[in-house]
Amino acid sequence: MIRISELKLPLDHAEGALPALVAHTLGLPAEQIARFTIHKRSFDARKATLMQVYIVDVALVDAAQEADLLRRHPDNPHLRPSPDMAYYPVGQAPADVPVRPVVVGFGPCGIFAALVLAQMGFKPIVLERGTTVRQRTQDTWGLWRKNVLKPESNVQFGEGGAGTFSDGKLYSQIKDPRFLGRKVMHEFVKAGAPEEILVAAHPHIGTFKLVKVVENLREQIIALGGEIRFEQRVTDVQIEDGPDGKHMRGLTVLNQATGESYALRADQVVLALGHSSRDTFSMLHARGVYVEAKPFSIGFRIEHPQSLIDRARWGQHAGHPLLGAADYKLVHHASNGRAVYSFCMCPGGTVVAATSEPGRVVTNGMSQYSRNERNANAGIVVGITPEDYPQDAAALRAALGDTVDTTLPPGHAVHPLAGIVLQRKLESNAYLLGGSSYEAPGQLVGDFIANRASSQLGAVEPSYKPGVRLGSLAEALPGYAIEAIREALPAFGRKIKGFDLPDAVLTGVETRTSSPLKMTRGDDFQSLTVRGLYPAGEGASYAGGILSAGVDGIKVAEAVARSLLG
Ligand code: FAD
Repeated sequence: MIRISELKLPLDHAEGALPALVAHTLGLPAEQIARFTIHKRSFDARKATLMQVYIVDVALVDAAQEADLLRRHPDNPHLRPSPDMAYYPVGQAPADVPVRPVVVGFGPCGIFAALVLAQMGFKPIVLERGTTVRQRTQDTWGLWRKNVLKPESNVQFGEGGAGTFSDGKLYSQIKDPRFLGRKVMHEFVKAGAPEEILVAAHPHIGTFKLVKVVENLREQIIALGGEIRFEQRVTDVQIEDGPDGKHMRGLTVLNQATGESYALRADQVVLALGHSSRDTFSMLHARGVYVEAKPFSIGFRIEHPQSLIDRARWGQHAGHPLLGAADYKLVHHASNGRAVYSFCMCPGGTVVAATSEPGRVVTNGMSQYSRNERNANAGIVVGITPEDYPQDAAALRAALGDTVDTTLPPGHAVHPLAGIVLQRKLESNAYLLGGSSYEAPGQLVGDFIANRASSQLGAVEPSYKPGVRLGSLAEALPGYAIEAIREALPAFGRKIKGFDLPDAVLTGVETRTSSPLKMTRGDDFQSLTVRGLYPAGEGASYAGGILSAGVDGIKVAEAVARSLLG
């Protein structure tokens, strides 16, 4: 097949225009084209006429002619052979796998690790600290509607992982030469996601559809012989010395429903913990699993009327049903050396309470497939590095408990858990600023820029539930971050007209942008210090988002299979 890119047609083009353009581009009569499929569809809003831009895969009636045609256009970057995007498993499990592989965590990374292991016949056991997605939905709404947080069943913990209550954006900038992202998308569609996600340049599922997709993926894993245990928190690991160094031997699991702990033999363990499992990170560090501090970002969430963003992005075409709600991506390099950028933009969505710990406030965003809520929201965050984290012994003990080993491991400039110290400090402070009831502290953009407290909302009604307490956010983040955001907002206003609208609302704090640490692994995907342990996904810093976490889950499942198959 031949892949043609950059096929442009006006937004409202007739149905027959695309096949005609395909034939014209190839210089062939329409009868010589057997079929074509759209691979991707995006929009180009840079000119007065808004265009749809297609990438298509074409099969000719005479397949032998395809290579000839490509040979005749060697310098045309928009005519290429279509790549083989099929997924090929790395092996098949023997009938008797002596010790079943274990996957800890059932977010996108754990789901795809378990699915691929199950598809290869390895019958994995999955341990998930949170509840099933239906129960979890009720618990999460309990925080949003009744100010009641369940520390083991919330936006971060439970079936489906952190992205279940999200916008469900499914794109990523990872290098993906094996098209593993395509495998993730196809599995989502098989499990009930809209087929549109296979062709949209910026696909998204939306939260309610994701819930059903996650349940269907669970059923598929079980049908293939896998086992999924909910409300089972891994609280300890058993590591043995062996001839080739330390090796995983087992897990201690707390059954949170009964309160009883049990031991589980485990030689191959995928750790797909997500970025919020701070107790587990501390335990792993204490047991000698290699962990290092890494950069992440902190900031606020901003809300504008969606119509303002649509107008700025789509101009006269704003509101066209094909276009849907517009998104944006912004970055500003502040004069104090900090980068400020938009994060996890949710068109037509809501800001959500995303803490997993009592007495703390964290913001994030989500939307439905329709993306038709009144406001657009996004994180406006500042990049920080391990040098910014408090790491004196007193701060480490206050944030992580008296038993934390405060000594700096050899070769580390910053304590591996120090990022958590900063996160907890900012989240606790936000809880206090919000009135100690899980309301989020907030401020109008105009007041934030002018450095005066807000006392009254303007035209933008913030969507965060259980509510927003207006005041000043000047103390909610370190000074350098406040300074950088203050400078960035007017600069963003010059890129997107109205972005610095005085009535736009900031809420805080945004601290869970990525993991504050990295569980470094070697080329064989195993921990640098413990064989048989496969740190994976967002928590280990090998993914940032649903799609890349799913892709990493596949890679790690393949590494486990290779190790088991010798
Ligand atoms: P997670 O999804 O965090 O899953 C980890 C799982 O491990 C959790 O279910 C947790 O309960 C479990 N676990 C942790 N510790 C233990 C333990 N000790 N024992 C047993 N189980 C344990 N990304 C996008 O790409 N698009 C979006 O639109 C998007 N929106 C988001 C909106 C919100 C509100 C949030 C919070 C995140 C959003 N993200 C989005 C980010 C995305 O959710 C994450 O990048 C992704 O979920 C990471 O996948 P993961 O499997 O690595 O970890």
